[in-house]
Amino acid sequence: MVFNGVDFETYFKNYPDKEGFFGKYGGAFVNPELKKAMEEITEAYFTICKSRKFIAELRRIRAEFQGRPTPISHLERLSNAIGNVQLYAKREDLNHSGAHKLNHCMGEALLAKFMGKKKVIAETGAGQHGVALATAAAYFGLECDIYMGAVDIKKQAPNVARMKILGANVVEVTEGLQTLKEAVDAAFAAYAEDYENSIYCIGSVLGPHPFPLMVRDFQSIVGIEARDQFMGMTGELPDAVVACVGGGSNAMGIFSGFLNDPVDIYGVEPLGRGPALGDHAASLKYGTEGIMHGFNSIMLKDENGEPAPVYSVASGLDYPSSGPEHAFLHTLGRVKYDVVDDEETIDAFFKLSRMEGIIPAIESAHAVAYAMKLAKEMGTGSILINLSGRGDKDMDYVIENYGIR
Ligand SMILES: *Cc1c(COP(=O)(O)O)cnc(C)c1O
Repeated sequence: MVFNGVDFETYFKNYPDKEGFFGKYGGAFVNPELKKAMEEITEAYFTICKSRKFIAELRRIRAEFQGRPTPISHLERLSNAIGNVQLYAKREDLNHSGAHKLNHCMGEALLAKFMGKKKVIAETGAGQHGVALATAAAYFGLECDIYMGAVDIKKQAPNVARMKILGANVVEVTEGLQTLKEAVDAAFAAYAEDYENSIYCIGSVLGPHPFPLMVRDFQSIVGIEARDQFMGMTGELPDAVVACVGGGSNAMGIFSGFLNDPVDIYGVEPLGRGPALGDHAASLKYGTEGIMHGFNSIMLKDENGEPAPVYSVASGLDYPSSGPEHAFLHTLGRVKYDVVDDEETIDAFFKLSRMEGIIPAIESAHAVAYAMKLAKEMGTGSILINLSGRGDKDMDYVIENYGIR
């Protein structure tokens, strides 16, 4: 399928280009030391990812450890409550450790193993990426340093405990506001100092090349499985595919399976409390082009051009930018990006729990909320939702702030 001059038949061969660009978005805007490290990873990745041994090992791990393939569930009661459109969910909440993040963490840690690295390094905000990477590190017997702002360490005690139980070293970052931005800087600095023995493992389709490419590749299993399963269940393609977008890894995973199909694709960003800067994290809807964390994309900026403060009820979605490939697909118009707010999300959280017996992560509930709205507009047809994770981590927060509905 050719869309605005881009042929999606050959899309994955051509995007990103050799320098890591999706059109004008992406690249590797880092200092010369890190640039060297990125080139080493790029070269190793392109060799290793094609080796039979690597592919066979990743397949075995997905089946034996992660519990893949995850199923697709037909959300019959929820669909009937809305109208005629049939809603389906790809159940990444059933992936081991409860979300899609383990898909790229196992890939990144396996790459580390093949490259002979001893340690994996990462930052974490809410702790979800830290837990997934600590899980992968434990599986492979790698050391694991997770950089986390002191403020986040206090807020996310259960995830800090999980990381420690899994054997990770949680490094407290006390600079600046002591949250995600400072944790990213500290983790990159530590990595630059020790890149011979370690590898940086990013948490989404973000950061300098080759990370947006690698993470997309590792997540693409979600789209490959989902397309096959959906065709098997219904005999046709879904009319629409919907996923929430923080950095954009779960979305790229499922979208990649349908980009070359006559399927409408929707990325859902968090509108939070409303459209004022600081009240949301809808970077593609309200942001402008800019460079942060080593890549060019569309981002929310403050009056000084720095990454703006962002908010979402879902801590996994409150990032002031999105992966460069989303910026590209947005500019092309191949994927439509839209928003739902906190209220709509919490409503969807309870509806999916009550009508289907599935408690979603609040991140994933954004996709469910949007699919419910879209179903009303469409009238007939089918929608496939990527249910990126389970909601156990969110239950206390929801009850405390919204009560039982
Ligand atoms: C981290 C997280 C997200 C957001 O990350 P993406 O890279 O945008 O997918 C979404 N859902 C869950 C359950 C998460 O843990």
